[in-house]
This record gives sequence, C-alpha cells and structure tokens, in this order.
Amino acid sequence: MSKQYTPTIGIEIHVQLATKSKMFCGCDNNSRSAKPNTNVCPVCLAFPGSLPVVNKGAVELAIRLGYGLNAKIADTTSFDRKNYFYPDSPKGYQITQMREPIIGEGHIEILVDNEFKKVGIHHAHLEEDAGKSTHPAGKDYSLVDFNRAGTPLVEIVSEPDMHSPVEAKRYLQEIYAIATTLGVSDGDMEHGNFKFDLNVSVSDTDELGTRTELKNLNSFRNAERSLKYEIARQIEVLESGEKIIQETRGWNDAKSQTVSQRSKEEANDYRYFPEPDIPPINLREEFINSVQDEIKQTVLPINVRRELLQLGLNADEQDILVGQVQTRTIFYDAKNSIANPKLEKKIVNWLVGDYQAWKSEHSESDSKLTGEHLADLIKLIEDGSISSKTAKEIFTDVIAGQKPNEIISQKGLTQMSDDSEIENIILAIIEKNPQAVADYKSGNEKAAGFFVGQVMAATKGQANPGKANALVLKLLQEQ
Ligand SMILES: [Zn+2]
Repeated sequence: MSKQYTPTIGIEIHVQLATKSKMFCGCDNNSRSAKPNTNVCPVCLAFPGSLPVVNKGAVELAIRLGYGLNAKIADTTSFDRKNYFYPDSPKGYQITQMREPIIGEGHIEILVDNEFKKVGIHHAHLEEDAGKSTHPAGKDYSLVDFNRAGTPLVEIVSEPDMHSPVEAKRYLQEIYAIATTLGVSDGDMEHGNFKFDLNVSVSDTDELGTRTELKNLNSFRNAERSLKYEIARQIEVLESGEKIIQETRGWNDAKSQTVSQRSKEEANDYRYFPEPDIPPINLREEFINSVQDEIKQTVLPINVRRELLQLGLNADEQDILVGQVQTRTIFYDAKNSIANPKLEKKIVNWLVGDYQAWKSEHSESDSKLTGEHLADLIKLIEDGSISSKTAKEIFTDVIAGQKPNEIISQKGLTQMSDDSEIENIILAIIEKNPQAVADYKSGNEKAAGFFVGQVMAATKGQANPGKANALVLKLLQEQ
C-alpha cells in the first residue's frame, strides 16, 4: 500500500513586455524580422563605457501588471547584477532586481472545477533577456544572435500554493490572460513572450520534499503533462527508498518525459551585487496611480470568468473568452449592444462555435468582426427576419466587416414570415402531392415533415421554419 503524497508547485514566469524599445537602450524591442545581430547597439552589446538607461515604458507596464496581481508597487526599486558566464550574455552578467523588486507581494484567483482559489505572488521583478545561441546540427561551431539581448522581461514568482498539475495550468493561463488583457505583453507564446519554470516536490508529511525545477516551458499543455510525469517520477523514486536530487530538468516532448539537465545553482553562486550604473528609482504615488488609472476600467479575466460561470459556460468555453483578448472585446461590445441578458448565451455560442471554426482556418488579424455586428445578426434571427441557417451562411461576410442588414438586403435573404405568402406555397405543394396528403390523413404524421421540407426548398430556406410547420399542419387538417 503506497503512501499518500501531496505535490507542491511554485512557478516562475518570464513575461516579455510590450515596450517599443529594449530594457536599457533604444534598440527596437521587436527583432522578429531582423537579421541576426542587426538590432543591437553598444549598450546591449556591453561595449566598455556604455551606460544603461531604464526604459520608462517598461516601468509603466510593470506597474500595470502589479495592479492585475493585486500587489503593492515598491516606493523604491533598484537593480542588481546577477553574474554568470554564457556566450549569449555579452556583459557576463544580467541586470535584474533582487533586493528591491518593483512588484511586491500579491495574489491572484484561479478557477479550478468551478471553485475560486487564491494563489500568492511572492514578488515580480524587472530584468533583461539574454541573446540566443543556436547549435547547427552536425557542425563543430555554435552561433549567437544578440538581437534579443536586453529585451525587457518581468519575472513573476509565485508562492508554492499549487498542489496539482491542473492548478498550475490554471495559474499560468490566468497570469497570461492578465498580462495580455492589461496590454503588458503581446503574449506571443511561439516567439517566447511567455516562458516559465516549474518547481515541484512531493511529500507525505507536513514538510516540503526536495524539489526539482522544470525549465523553459512555453505551452500550457506541456506544463500540465510535464508536471504529471515529474510528480509520478518523484513518487516512484521515494517509494523505491531513494532520494530526490535537487536539479534542473527539461521536458522532452517527443519522449513525453522529463530529463535531468544539471544540478541546481544556489543564489550565492551568482555573486549578486547592486548595479552601480543605475541609481535606485523612487516611484511617486501619483505616478503609480496615473499609470493604473488607465487600466482600471478594464475587466480583469477572473471577473470575466465569474460572469461566464453564471451563464453556465464550462471551463473550455471560458478559456476561449478569457484567453483571447479580441474575442472577449467582441463579447462585451455585443453584450452592451444587445442589452438583453437572455441573449448573452447566444453571443457566447457564436463566439465559441462558428467564430472559433473560422479562426482555425484564418488569421485573427483578418477578422473585422465587431460586437455590434454580431449583436445585429442575433437580433435578426430573434425577430424572425432571417433563419439561423441563413445567419450561419452570411457569418463569413459579417466577419469580413459587412453589416448583417446590408448583406441580407443585398442578397435578398430576408426570411419569409408573411402568412399568406407561405400559405400559397404550401397549397401548391399539397396540390402536387395527393399521395403524401393521403398518407398524412391515414395517420402517418411524419408526412407533415415532407411538406415542411418542400416549403423550405421552394423558398430556398427563407421561410421561417416554425411558421412553415404550423401552417403545414393547419392546411393539411383542412384537406
Ligand atoms: Zn541596444
């Protein structure tokens, strides 16, 4: 009989800030289309005599993030040097914050199995990214690109408050949603805007076990998978009477397992000391308030979840609206435009259904869907002007930016709701199909469906189906 082990998980997330320039120099913060080593200057290449200057935009974005993390912003914040040698770090150290991080203690809420749970934030600090090394396969050399050197990051350090892989995944998704909602980061995960390290241990007592660190992950799915694997591995090691080694491990996606990389450094291996080239920054309260006032109108992701939970949305549906800033904006605009709580679930259905289907084949930047147009489309269905089938057919045009009203008048798609018009069509069909009438009369009620189908075909789907059905029954009974 094996013992009961509780996993404990703490997470460090590196969020790339959406500033125009790098952390300590004027180089462009976006090197995506730049050739290697072209987006660099004496500061980010660490030429002797060059001096770093703190990017005010990065400080402002950190202050915004602090709001989303329910955290106190430091009155005084300062920078430190973390010394290490690596070819992609031209300085031989990283400028980071150790003693006086800009964002202090805070917390966020996550939603797990429809229950809200608090996760503590230990602190979050500003720092710069390193360059990028590549090791061409089969070659006896490595290449280094310094374009990324000096990119502004915030590292968010959680408390070890998570106790399952799914809680960890929820925490990551929530921080991601907060950072993108508040415009702190572009959140482009493929390009490394959001990377994280997972610290995990297991224990069957009140004391924490020895932890391992899973480094450099960049997908929510792999976070969950790697934690599941690592927790099972640690339990197996302990059950066999051995000890967990404190070490850094990587996730091998192809093999679906974690692999040992190196033993963990201690903080004092880095010889941290205060950055002598950057004086401490005093943040005035009115400055902090003015930065945070800009975003106080923004609905925070957890409050979106609260609302969606009330609408009866499951976690996956919630994730779509919480995780996609653009889709969420459309939701709120449509909700305001439609001003009818009974139709809110319909807005959600369009956004998590047809809109996601469209997005899976197109780029979001091609979408011109507005909340107002979506609301108009739903209203047209509700008042019987168009069938939901027609609405689905014209949805692509609506996404392309056309007004639903204009599309249906241009294409002549208005639903036929006029009784006498539909009646005439039904009578003509009855006349042509005496056998089906006889079937219905002899008790085969399914025969009515045949007539409704004929009406829809004759009107190219423009008859209101409910109305057509009622009129078919009425006229058949009169035969
Ligand atoms: Zn530079």
